[in-house]
Amino acid sequence: MTTHVHASAELPVSEATRTFLAAEHTMTIGGRDVFAASGATIPVFDPAAGGTIAAVPAGGKAEIDAAVRAARKALEGSWSKLRPADRERLLLKLADAIEANGTVLAELETANNGQSIGIARAIEVGASVEHVRYMAGWATKIYGQTFDVSIAVPPGTRYRAMTRKEPVGVVGAIVPWNFPLSMAIWKIAPALAAGCTIVLKPAEETPLSALRLGQIIRDVGFPEGVVNVVTGYGHEAGAALASHPGIDKVAFTGSTEVGKIIGRAAVENMTRFALELGGKSPMVMFDDMNPDLIGTAAAIGVYFNQGQVCTCGSRVLVQKSIYDKVAETFVSVANTLKIGSGFDPANQINPLVSKKQQSRVLGLIEKGVAEGARVAAGGAATDSNGFFVKPTVIVGAKPENILVREEIFGPVAALMPFDDMDDAIRQANDTVYGLSASIWSRDINRCFTFADAVKAGTVWVNMHNVLDPNMPFGGFRQSGIGREHGATAVENYMETKSICVAL
Ligand code: NAD
Repeated sequence: MTTHVHASAELPVSEATRTFLAAEHTMTIGGRDVFAASGATIPVFDPAAGGTIAAVPAGGKAEIDAAVRAARKALEGSWSKLRPADRERLLLKLADAIEANGTVLAELETANNGQSIGIARAIEVGASVEHVRYMAGWATKIYGQTFDVSIAVPPGTRYRAMTRKEPVGVVGAIVPWNFPLSMAIWKIAPALAAGCTIVLKPAEETPLSALRLGQIIRDVGFPEGVVNVVTGYGHEAGAALASHPGIDKVAFTGSTEVGKIIGRAAVENMTRFALELGGKSPMVMFDDMNPDLIGTAAAIGVYFNQGQVCTCGSRVLVQKSIYDKVAETFVSVANTLKIGSGFDPANQINPLVSKKQQSRVLGLIEKGVAEGARVAAGGAATDSNGFFVKPTVIVGAKPENILVREEIFGPVAALMPFDDMDDAIRQANDTVYGLSASIWSRDINRCFTFADAVKAGTVWVNMHNVLDPNMPFGGFRQSGIGREHGATAVENYMETKSICVAL
Protein backbone atom coordinates (compact mmCIF):
# COMPACT_ATOMS: atom_id res chain seq x y z
CA MET A 1 0.00 0.00 0.00
CA THR A 2 1.14 3.57 -0.70
CA THR A 3 2.41 5.42 2.35
CA HIS A 4 2.49 9.15 3.06
CA VAL A 5 4.65 11.32 5.26
CA HIS A 6 2.60 12.15 8.34
CA ALA A 7 3.07 15.49 10.07
CA SER A 8 0.60 14.70 12.85
CA ALA A 9 3.34 14.70 15.51
CA GLU A 10 3.07 18.49 15.77
CA LEU A 11 -0.69 18.59 16.33
CA PRO A 12 -1.79 19.51 19.88
CA VAL A 13 -3.90 16.38 20.34
CA SER A 14 -4.36 13.69 22.96
CA GLU A 15 -2.35 10.46 22.92
CA ALA A 16 -5.45 8.53 21.81
CA THR A 17 -5.93 10.80 18.78
CA ARG A 18 -2.24 10.62 17.93
CA THR A 19 -2.41 6.82 18.02
CA PHE A 20 -5.46 6.83 15.75
CA LEU A 21 -3.79 9.21 13.29
CA ALA A 22 -0.63 7.11 13.16
CA ALA A 23 -2.51 3.87 12.39
CA GLU A 24 -2.84 2.41 8.92
CA HIS A 25 -6.39 3.42 8.13
CA THR A 26 -8.93 0.89 7.00
CA MET A 27 -12.57 1.03 6.00
CA THR A 28 -15.36 -0.89 7.73
CA ILE A 29 -17.08 -3.32 5.36
CA GLY A 30 -19.19 -6.18 6.67
CA GLY A 31 -17.75 -5.67 10.15
CA ARG A 32 -14.16 -6.10 8.94
CA ASP A 33 -11.17 -3.77 8.47
CA VAL A 34 -10.58 -3.42 4.77
CA PHE A 35 -7.94 -1.69 2.61
CA ALA A 36 -8.71 -0.63 -0.95
CA ALA A 37 -8.05 -3.59 -3.26
CA SER A 38 -6.04 -1.29 -5.53
CA GLY A 39 -3.81 -0.27 -2.62
CA ALA A 40 -4.42 3.38 -3.53
CA THR A 41 -4.76 5.98 -0.78
CA ILE A 42 -5.97 9.57 -0.41
CA PRO A 43 -3.80 12.04 1.54
CA VAL A 44 -5.47 13.87 4.43
CA PHE A 45 -4.33 17.43 5.18
CA ASP A 46 -4.04 19.65 8.25
CA PRO A 47 -5.72 22.81 6.92
CA ALA A 48 -4.10 25.03 9.57
CA ALA A 49 -0.54 24.25 8.51
CA GLY A 50 -0.92 22.65 5.10
CA GLY A 51 0.91 19.33 5.74
CA THR A 52 -0.49 15.81 5.43
CA ILE A 53 -1.54 14.04 8.61
CA ALA A 54 -2.81 10.69 7.36
CA ALA A 55 -3.67 8.62 4.33
CA VAL A 56 -6.93 6.73 3.92
CA PRO A 57 -7.94 4.01 1.46
CA ALA A 58 -9.17 5.22 -1.92
CA GLY A 59 -12.12 2.86 -2.17
CA GLY A 60 -13.84 2.43 -5.52
CA LYS A 61 -16.40 0.28 -7.27
CA ALA A 62 -15.08 -3.00 -5.82
CA GLU A 63 -15.34 -1.74 -2.23
CA ILE A 64 -18.76 -0.19 -2.84
CA ASP A 65 -19.98 -3.51 -4.28
CA ALA A 66 -18.71 -5.38 -1.23
CA ALA A 67 -20.24 -2.85 1.15
CA VAL A 68 -23.64 -2.94 -0.59
CA ARG A 69 -23.59 -6.75 -0.44
CA ALA A 70 -22.76 -6.66 3.27
CA ALA A 71 -25.53 -4.13 3.91
CA ARG A 72 -28.04 -6.28 2.01
CA LYS A 73 -27.02 -9.39 3.92
CA ALA A 74 -27.43 -7.58 7.24
CA LEU A 75 -30.78 -6.13 6.15
CA GLU A 76 -32.16 -9.54 5.28
CA GLY A 77 -30.43 -11.29 8.18
CA SER A 78 -29.61 -10.41 11.74
CA TRP A 79 -30.66 -6.75 11.61
CA SER A 80 -34.23 -7.45 10.52
CA LYS A 81 -34.62 -9.95 13.39
CA LEU A 82 -33.99 -7.28 16.02
CA ARG A 83 -37.01 -5.69 17.65
CA PRO A 84 -37.54 -1.92 17.51
CA ALA A 85 -36.61 -1.77 21.20
CA ASP A 86 -33.30 -3.49 20.40
CA ARG A 87 -32.58 -0.87 17.71
CA GLU A 88 -33.42 1.85 20.20
CA ARG A 89 -31.08 0.38 22.81
CA LEU A 90 -28.24 0.02 20.30
CA LEU A 91 -28.68 3.63 19.20
CA LEU A 92 -28.61 4.79 22.82
CA LYS A 93 -25.42 2.79 23.33
CA LEU A 94 -24.00 4.41 20.21
CA ALA A 95 -24.78 7.88 21.60
CA ASP A 96 -22.96 7.00 24.83
CA ALA A 97 -19.99 5.64 22.87
CA ILE A 98 -19.75 8.79 20.72
CA GLU A 99 -19.79 10.81 23.93
CA ALA A 100 -17.11 8.60 25.50
CA ASN A 101 -14.97 9.02 22.36
CA GLY A 102 -15.73 12.74 22.26
CA THR A 103 -12.16 13.96 22.70
CA VAL A 104 -10.79 11.87 19.84
CA LEU A 105 -13.70 12.66 17.52
CA ALA A 106 -13.53 16.41 18.22
CA GLU A 107 -9.76 16.49 17.78
CA LEU A 108 -10.02 14.57 14.52
CA GLU A 109 -12.54 17.13 13.22
CA THR A 110 -10.31 20.06 14.12
CA ALA A 111 -7.19 18.35 12.73
CA ASN A 112 -8.94 17.35 9.51
CA ASN A 113 -11.59 20.02 8.80
CA GLY A 114 -9.74 22.88 10.52
CA GLN A 115 -12.80 24.00 12.51
CA SER A 116 -12.66 25.35 16.05
CA ILE A 117 -12.25 22.72 18.75
CA GLY A 118 -15.13 24.45 20.56
CA ILE A 119 -17.44 23.87 17.57
CA ALA A 120 -16.12 20.32 17.18
CA ARG A 121 -16.91 19.52 20.82
CA ALA A 122 -20.27 21.28 21.04
CA ILE A 123 -21.69 20.58 17.60
CA GLU A 124 -19.89 17.73 15.91
CA VAL A 125 -19.81 15.65 19.07
CA GLY A 126 -22.34 17.22 21.48
CA ALA A 127 -25.18 17.79 19.02
CA SER A 128 -24.49 14.45 17.29
CA VAL A 129 -24.88 12.62 20.60
CA GLU A 130 -28.23 14.36 21.19
CA HIS A 131 -29.28 13.65 17.60
CA VAL A 132 -28.66 9.91 18.01
CA ARG A 133 -30.56 9.89 21.33
CA TYR A 134 -33.46 11.76 19.75
CA MET A 135 -33.62 9.36 16.77
CA ALA A 136 -33.28 6.31 19.07
CA GLY A 137 -36.69 7.21 20.51
CA TRP A 138 -38.36 7.02 17.09
CA ALA A 139 -37.36 3.37 16.59
CA THR A 140 -40.19 2.30 18.94
CA LYS A 141 -42.72 4.83 17.66
CA ILE A 142 -43.20 3.72 14.08
CA TYR A 143 -46.80 3.01 13.13
CA GLY A 144 -49.16 2.86 10.19
CA GLN A 145 -52.88 3.64 10.12
CA THR A 146 -56.13 1.74 9.74
CA PHE A 147 -58.86 3.19 7.57
CA ASP A 148 -62.17 2.55 5.92
CA VAL A 149 -62.32 1.65 2.24
CA SER A 150 -64.46 4.31 0.58
CA ILE A 151 -65.61 2.53 -2.58
CA ALA A 152 -66.18 -1.05 -1.43
CA VAL A 153 -66.87 -3.31 -4.43
CA PRO A 154 -69.26 -5.03 -4.68
CA PRO A 155 -71.40 -2.86 -2.41
CA GLY A 156 -71.86 -4.42 0.97
CA THR A 157 -68.43 -6.10 1.01
CA ARG A 158 -66.54 -5.48 4.18
CA TYR A 159 -62.86 -4.63 4.04
CA ARG A 160 -60.30 -3.81 6.70
CA ALA A 161 -57.46 -1.68 5.33
CA MET A 162 -54.25 -0.59 6.98
CA THR A 163 -50.81 0.77 6.24
CA ARG A 164 -47.58 -0.70 7.46
CA LYS A 165 -44.25 1.11 7.53
CA GLU A 166 -41.24 -0.87 6.39
CA PRO A 167 -37.59 0.15 6.21
CA VAL A 168 -36.76 1.33 2.69
CA GLY A 169 -33.76 -1.03 2.66
CA VAL A 170 -30.09 -0.39 1.94
CA VAL A 171 -29.20 3.30 2.13
CA GLY A 172 -26.25 4.90 0.38
CA ALA A 173 -25.24 8.01 2.34
CA ILE A 174 -22.89 10.51 0.69
CA VAL A 175 -21.83 13.46 2.82
CA PRO A 176 -19.73 16.66 2.55
CA TRP A 177 -16.74 18.00 4.47
CA ASN A 178 -18.12 21.00 6.33
CA PHE A 179 -19.41 19.14 9.43
CA PRO A 180 -18.16 15.63 8.68
CA LEU A 181 -19.45 13.83 11.76
CA SER A 182 -22.81 15.62 12.02
CA MET A 183 -23.58 15.13 8.34
CA ALA A 184 -22.96 11.39 8.71
CA ILE A 185 -25.05 11.18 11.90
CA TRP A 186 -27.98 13.07 10.36
CA LYS A 187 -28.33 10.17 7.92
CA ILE A 188 -27.18 7.17 9.94
CA ALA A 189 -29.32 7.82 13.05
CA PRO A 190 -32.79 8.06 11.41
CA ALA A 191 -31.94 5.31 8.90
CA LEU A 192 -31.03 2.93 11.73
CA ALA A 193 -34.09 3.95 13.73
CA ALA A 194 -36.21 3.04 10.69
CA GLY A 195 -34.50 -0.36 10.39
CA CYS A 196 -32.33 0.31 7.32
CA THR A 197 -28.71 -0.66 6.73
CA ILE A 198 -26.16 1.79 5.39
CA VAL A 199 -23.13 2.37 3.22
CA LEU A 200 -21.56 5.70 4.21
CA LYS A 201 -19.21 7.55 1.85
CA PRO A 202 -17.61 10.53 3.63
CA ALA A 203 -16.03 13.42 1.71
CA GLU A 204 -12.51 12.68 0.51
CA GLU A 205 -11.27 15.80 2.32
CA THR A 206 -12.58 14.70 5.74
CA PRO A 207 -12.73 10.92 6.13
CA LEU A 208 -11.17 10.51 9.58
CA SER A 209 -14.14 10.93 11.94
CA ALA A 210 -16.25 8.64 9.72
CA LEU A 211 -13.60 5.91 9.92
CA ARG A 212 -13.51 6.24 13.70
CA LEU A 213 -17.32 6.24 13.79
CA GLY A 214 -17.35 2.97 11.80
CA GLN A 215 -15.18 1.36 14.47
CA ILE A 216 -17.33 2.75 17.30
CA ILE A 217 -20.49 1.40 15.66
CA ARG A 218 -18.92 -2.07 15.49
CA ASP A 219 -17.71 -1.86 19.07
CA VAL A 220 -21.16 -1.07 20.50
CA GLY A 221 -22.53 -4.28 19.01
CA PHE A 222 -24.40 -3.42 15.82
CA PRO A 223 -24.48 -6.61 13.69
CA GLU A 224 -21.81 -6.68 11.01
CA GLY A 225 -22.77 -5.02 7.75
CA VAL A 226 -25.42 -2.74 9.29
CA VAL A 227 -23.16 0.31 8.85
CA ASN A 228 -20.31 0.18 6.33
CA VAL A 229 -17.89 3.05 5.76
CA VAL A 230 -16.14 3.35 2.40
CA THR A 231 -13.68 6.20 1.87
CA GLY A 232 -12.96 7.33 -1.67
CA TYR A 233 -13.27 10.09 -4.22
CA GLY A 234 -16.69 11.37 -5.22
CA HIS A 235 -16.35 10.57 -8.91
CA GLU A 236 -15.26 7.00 -8.06
CA ALA A 237 -16.70 5.66 -4.79
CA GLY A 238 -19.50 8.27 -4.65
CA ALA A 239 -20.60 7.70 -8.24
CA ALA A 240 -20.43 3.90 -7.80
CA LEU A 241 -22.67 4.15 -4.73
CA ALA A 242 -25.25 6.55 -6.20
CA SER A 243 -25.68 4.44 -9.33
CA HIS A 244 -25.59 1.06 -7.57
CA PRO A 245 -28.66 -1.05 -8.41
CA GLY A 246 -28.32 -2.77 -5.01
CA ILE A 247 -29.24 0.27 -2.94
CA ASP A 248 -32.81 1.33 -2.24
CA LYS A 249 -32.23 4.95 -1.27
CA VAL A 250 -29.48 7.47 -1.70
CA ALA A 251 -29.26 10.22 0.90
CA PHE A 252 -26.96 13.02 -0.19
CA THR A 253 -25.73 16.25 1.34
CA GLY A 254 -23.46 18.41 -0.75
CA SER A 255 -23.43 20.86 -3.62
CA THR A 256 -26.40 21.41 -5.91
CA GLU A 257 -24.20 20.54 -8.88
CA VAL A 258 -23.34 17.07 -7.55
CA GLY A 259 -26.89 16.66 -6.18
CA LYS A 260 -28.21 16.83 -9.75
CA ILE A 261 -25.74 14.11 -10.84
CA ILE A 262 -26.84 11.93 -7.90
CA GLY A 263 -30.54 12.48 -8.66
CA ARG A 264 -30.06 11.49 -12.30
CA ALA A 265 -28.09 8.36 -11.35
CA ALA A 266 -30.75 7.39 -8.80
CA VAL A 267 -33.66 7.81 -11.21
CA GLU A 268 -31.98 5.37 -13.61
CA ASN A 269 -32.65 2.56 -11.06
CA MET A 270 -35.72 4.22 -9.47
CA THR A 271 -33.66 4.43 -6.29
CA ARG A 272 -35.37 6.80 -3.84
CA PHE A 273 -33.32 9.88 -3.14
CA ALA A 274 -33.09 12.78 -0.71
CA LEU A 275 -30.91 15.80 -1.44
CA GLU A 276 -29.70 18.43 1.02
CA LEU A 277 -27.95 20.96 -1.16
CA GLY A 278 -26.45 24.43 -1.28
CA GLY A 279 -27.86 27.80 -0.33
CA LYS A 280 -27.51 31.55 -0.67
CA SER A 281 -29.48 32.49 2.39
CA PRO A 282 -30.63 36.06 3.05
CA MET A 283 -30.36 37.75 6.44
CA VAL A 284 -32.89 40.57 6.27
CA MET A 285 -32.39 43.44 8.70
CA PHE A 286 -35.20 45.93 9.23
CA ASP A 287 -34.74 49.41 10.70
CA ASP A 288 -36.48 48.43 13.97
CA MET A 289 -34.12 45.54 14.73
CA ASN A 290 -32.29 45.43 18.03
CA PRO A 291 -28.99 47.09 17.06
CA ASP A 292 -27.14 45.04 19.69
CA LEU A 293 -27.78 41.96 17.52
CA ILE A 294 -25.95 43.21 14.40
CA GLY A 295 -22.59 41.92 15.62
CA THR A 296 -24.08 38.55 16.61
CA ALA A 297 -25.71 38.28 13.20
CA ALA A 298 -22.35 38.79 11.51
CA ALA A 299 -20.43 36.40 13.76
CA ILE A 300 -23.04 33.61 13.96
CA GLY A 301 -24.95 34.16 10.73
CA VAL A 302 -22.03 34.57 8.35
CA TYR A 303 -18.60 33.84 9.83
CA PHE A 304 -19.54 30.76 11.88
CA ASN A 305 -17.34 27.82 10.75
CA GLN A 306 -15.68 30.23 8.27
CA GLY A 307 -18.97 30.46 6.36
CA GLN A 308 -18.66 26.78 5.40
CA VAL A 309 -22.26 26.29 6.42
CA CYS A 310 -25.02 25.49 3.94
CA THR A 311 -27.30 27.99 5.72
CA CYS A 312 -24.65 30.75 5.84
CA GLY A 313 -26.40 34.15 5.70
CA SER A 314 -24.20 35.26 2.84
CA ARG A 315 -26.65 37.86 1.46
CA VAL A 316 -27.18 40.55 4.08
CA LEU A 317 -30.15 42.70 3.05
CA VAL A 318 -30.34 45.89 5.09
CA GLN A 319 -33.05 48.55 5.20
CA LYS A 320 -31.60 51.77 3.80
CA SER A 321 -31.88 53.89 6.95
CA ILE A 322 -29.66 51.52 8.98
CA TYR A 323 -27.39 50.40 6.14
CA ASP A 324 -24.37 52.53 7.16
CA LYS A 325 -24.56 51.40 10.77
CA VAL A 326 -24.84 47.71 9.81
CA ALA A 327 -21.95 48.02 7.32
CA GLU A 328 -19.80 49.71 9.95
CA THR A 329 -20.54 46.94 12.49
CA PHE A 330 -19.87 44.14 9.99
CA VAL A 331 -16.53 45.72 9.04
CA SER A 332 -15.57 46.11 12.68
CA VAL A 333 -16.54 42.47 13.49
CA ALA A 334 -14.66 41.18 10.42
CA ASN A 335 -11.57 43.18 11.37
CA THR A 336 -11.54 42.04 14.99
CA LEU A 337 -12.27 38.32 14.74
CA LYS A 338 -9.15 36.45 15.79
CA ILE A 339 -7.70 34.27 13.04
CA GLY A 340 -5.73 31.07 13.67
CA SER A 341 -5.70 27.32 14.22
CA GLY A 342 -8.91 25.73 15.45
CA PHE A 343 -6.98 24.07 18.28
CA ASP A 344 -6.85 27.43 20.12
CA PRO A 345 -10.47 28.03 21.15
CA ALA A 346 -9.77 31.77 21.30
CA ASN A 347 -9.40 31.82 17.51
CA GLN A 348 -12.73 32.71 15.91
CA ILE A 349 -11.76 32.28 12.26
CA ASN A 350 -10.03 29.03 11.38
CA PRO A 351 -8.70 27.72 8.08
CA LEU A 352 -10.96 26.63 5.24
CA VAL A 353 -10.99 22.90 4.65
CA SER A 354 -8.58 22.74 1.70
CA LYS A 355 -6.24 24.66 -0.55
CA LYS A 356 -8.82 24.13 -3.31
CA GLN A 357 -11.60 25.73 -1.24
CA GLN A 358 -9.33 28.64 -0.28
CA SER A 359 -8.49 29.27 -3.96
CA ARG A 360 -12.15 28.98 -4.90
CA VAL A 361 -13.25 31.58 -2.34
CA LEU A 362 -10.43 34.01 -3.22
CA GLY A 363 -11.22 33.49 -6.93
CA LEU A 364 -14.89 34.34 -6.39
CA ILE A 365 -13.96 37.52 -4.49
CA GLU A 366 -11.65 38.53 -7.33
CA LYS A 367 -14.39 37.95 -9.92
CA GLY A 368 -16.95 39.82 -7.83
CA VAL A 369 -14.61 42.81 -7.57
CA ALA A 370 -13.97 42.70 -11.32
CA GLU A 371 -17.77 42.85 -11.72
CA GLY A 372 -17.91 46.06 -9.67
CA ALA A 373 -18.24 45.04 -6.01
CA ARG A 374 -15.97 46.57 -3.34
CA VAL A 375 -14.14 44.83 -0.50
CA ALA A 376 -14.82 46.75 2.75
CA ALA A 377 -12.94 44.27 4.97
CA GLY A 378 -10.80 41.18 4.42
CA GLY A 379 -10.84 39.84 0.90
CA ALA A 380 -7.48 38.07 1.09
CA ALA A 381 -5.56 35.10 2.47
CA THR A 382 -3.38 35.49 5.56
CA ASP A 383 0.42 35.12 5.65
CA SER A 384 0.33 31.45 6.54
CA ASN A 385 0.79 28.05 4.95
CA GLY A 386 -2.69 27.22 6.27
CA PHE A 387 -5.77 27.64 4.10
CA PHE A 388 -7.05 30.87 5.73
CA VAL A 389 -9.27 33.57 4.22
CA LYS A 390 -9.83 36.75 6.23
CA PRO A 391 -13.46 37.48 7.16
CA THR A 392 -14.72 39.55 4.28
CA VAL A 393 -17.37 42.24 3.84
CA ILE A 394 -18.51 43.04 0.30
CA VAL A 395 -20.43 46.22 -0.51
CA GLY A 396 -21.74 47.80 -3.70
CA ALA A 397 -22.49 44.48 -5.44
CA LYS A 398 -25.23 44.58 -8.09
CA PRO A 399 -27.92 41.83 -7.93
CA GLU A 400 -26.26 40.00 -10.85
CA ASN A 401 -22.80 40.01 -9.20
CA ILE A 402 -21.30 36.53 -8.79
CA LEU A 403 -20.89 37.16 -5.04
CA VAL A 404 -24.64 37.69 -4.75
CA ARG A 405 -25.63 34.74 -6.92
CA GLU A 406 -23.21 31.90 -6.16
CA GLU A 407 -22.80 29.95 -2.98
CA ILE A 408 -19.31 30.89 -1.73
CA PHE A 409 -18.94 28.56 1.26
CA GLY A 410 -16.43 30.90 2.83
CA PRO A 411 -16.35 33.84 5.28
CA VAL A 412 -17.88 36.35 2.89
CA ALA A 413 -20.89 38.64 3.51
CA ALA A 414 -22.40 40.65 0.65
CA LEU A 415 -24.32 43.66 2.02
CA MET A 416 -27.15 45.14 -0.04
CA PRO A 417 -29.70 47.84 0.79
CA PHE A 418 -33.50 47.51 0.45
CA ASP A 419 -36.39 50.01 0.65
CA ASP A 420 -39.40 48.30 2.20
CA MET A 421 -41.00 44.90 2.86
CA ASP A 422 -41.88 44.29 -0.81
CA ASP A 423 -38.34 45.07 -1.87
CA ALA A 424 -36.91 42.88 0.92
CA ILE A 425 -39.08 39.90 -0.11
CA ARG A 426 -38.26 40.41 -3.78
CA GLN A 427 -34.52 40.49 -3.15
CA ALA A 428 -34.61 37.63 -0.62
CA ASN A 429 -36.35 35.40 -3.18
CA ASP A 430 -34.14 36.49 -6.07
CA THR A 431 -32.05 33.30 -6.03
CA VAL A 432 -32.32 29.74 -7.31
CA TYR A 433 -31.81 28.50 -3.76
CA GLY A 434 -34.23 28.27 -0.81
CA LEU A 435 -32.53 26.65 2.16
CA SER A 436 -32.94 29.25 4.90
CA ALA A 437 -33.53 32.92 5.67
CA SER A 438 -33.58 35.15 8.71
CA ILE A 439 -35.48 38.32 9.54
CA TRP A 440 -34.30 40.79 12.15
CA SER A 441 -37.07 43.05 13.46
CA ARG A 442 -39.02 43.80 16.66
CA ASP A 443 -42.34 43.94 14.80
CA ILE A 444 -44.15 40.59 14.95
CA ASN A 445 -46.28 41.45 11.91
CA ARG A 446 -43.24 42.23 9.82
CA CYS A 447 -41.64 38.98 10.97
CA PHE A 448 -44.59 36.81 9.94
CA THR A 449 -45.23 38.71 6.71
CA PHE A 450 -41.65 37.95 5.73
CA ALA A 451 -41.65 34.38 7.07
CA ASP A 452 -44.78 33.57 5.03
CA ALA A 453 -43.46 35.11 1.81
CA VAL A 454 -39.86 33.95 1.73
CA LYS A 455 -39.09 30.77 -0.22
CA ALA A 456 -36.96 28.93 2.32
CA GLY A 457 -37.08 25.64 4.21
CA THR A 458 -36.19 27.31 7.51
CA VAL A 459 -36.89 30.88 8.60
CA TRP A 460 -35.25 32.29 11.71
CA VAL A 461 -36.49 35.38 13.50
CA ASN A 462 -33.84 37.48 15.27
CA MET A 463 -31.34 34.63 15.01
CA HIS A 464 -29.62 32.53 12.38
CA ASN A 465 -28.11 29.04 12.12
CA VAL A 466 -30.06 27.44 14.97
CA LEU A 467 -30.96 23.79 14.29
CA ASP A 468 -32.68 21.13 16.33
CA PRO A 469 -33.16 17.37 15.85
CA ASN A 470 -36.92 17.89 16.28
CA MET A 471 -37.19 20.68 13.67
CA PRO A 472 -37.46 19.58 10.02
CA PHE A 473 -34.56 20.84 7.95
CA GLY A 474 -34.16 21.02 4.18
CA GLY A 475 -34.49 23.18 1.14
CA PHE A 476 -37.03 24.74 -1.20
CA ARG A 477 -36.11 25.02 -4.89
CA GLN A 478 -32.52 24.08 -5.80
CA SER A 479 -31.53 23.69 -2.15
CA GLY A 480 -32.81 20.15 -2.17
CA ILE A 481 -35.53 17.55 -2.05
CA GLY A 482 -36.75 16.08 1.25
CA ARG A 483 -36.32 16.97 4.91
CA GLU A 484 -33.99 15.73 7.61
CA HIS A 485 -34.59 15.89 11.39
CA GLY A 486 -37.83 15.24 13.23
CA ALA A 487 -40.29 12.44 12.51
CA THR A 488 -40.00 13.32 8.81
CA ALA A 489 -36.42 12.10 8.75
CA VAL A 490 -37.42 8.63 9.92
CA GLU A 491 -40.39 8.64 7.54
CA ASN A 492 -37.93 9.31 4.69
CA TYR A 493 -36.23 5.99 5.35
CA MET A 494 -39.44 3.97 5.15
CA GLU A 495 -41.82 2.66 2.51
CA THR A 496 -45.56 2.65 3.08
CA LYS A 497 -47.34 -0.60 2.31
CA SER A 498 -51.16 -0.78 2.15
CA ILE A 499 -52.75 -4.05 3.22
CA CYS A 500 -56.40 -4.59 2.41
CA VAL A 501 -58.29 -7.52 3.91
CA ALA A 502 -61.67 -8.78 2.65
CA LEU A 503 -63.69 -9.91 5.65
P1 NAD B 1 -19.70 18.14 -3.01
O1 NAD B 1 -21.03 18.11 -3.67
O2 NAD B 1 -18.52 18.45 -3.82
O3 NAD B 1 -19.39 16.72 -2.33
C1 NAD B 1 -20.27 16.13 -1.42
C2 NAD B 1 -20.06 14.63 -1.44
O4 NAD B 1 -20.38 14.13 -2.73
C3 NAD B 1 -18.62 14.18 -1.16
O5 NAD B 1 -18.64 13.02 -0.39
C4 NAD B 1 -18.08 13.90 -2.53
O6 NAD B 1 -17.04 12.95 -2.55
C5 NAD B 1 -19.32 13.34 -3.22
N1 NAD B 1 -19.29 13.43 -4.68
C6 NAD B 1 -18.66 14.33 -5.47
N2 NAD B 1 -18.86 14.07 -6.76
C7 NAD B 1 -19.67 12.99 -6.82
C8 NAD B 1 -20.26 12.24 -7.88
N3 NAD B 1 -20.05 12.54 -9.16
N4 NAD B 1 -21.05 11.20 -7.56
C9 NAD B 1 -21.29 10.88 -6.28
N5 NAD B 1 -20.75 11.53 -5.23
C10 NAD B 1 -19.95 12.57 -5.49
O7 NAD B 1 -19.90 19.13 -1.78
P2 NAD B 1 -18.79 19.61 -0.74
O8 NAD B 1 -17.92 20.59 -1.45
O9 NAD B 1 -18.18 18.44 -0.07
O10 NAD B 1 -19.69 20.33 0.36
C11 NAD B 1 -20.13 21.62 0.23
C12 NAD B 1 -21.56 21.66 -0.27
O11 NAD B 1 -22.42 20.92 0.61
C13 NAD B 1 -22.12 23.05 -0.30
O12 NAD B 1 -22.79 23.27 -1.51
C14 NAD B 1 -23.11 23.08 0.87
O13 NAD B 1 -24.12 24.00 0.76
C15 NAD B 1 -23.60 21.69 0.87
N6 NAD B 1 -24.17 21.35 2.19
C16 NAD B 1 -25.53 21.28 2.31
C17 NAD B 1 -26.12 20.99 3.53
C18 NAD B 1 -27.61 20.87 3.66
O14 NAD B 1 -28.07 20.23 4.60
N7 NAD B 1 -28.42 21.42 2.78
C19 NAD B 1 -25.31 20.78 4.66
C20 NAD B 1 -23.92 20.88 4.50
C21 NAD B 1 -23.38 21.16 3.25
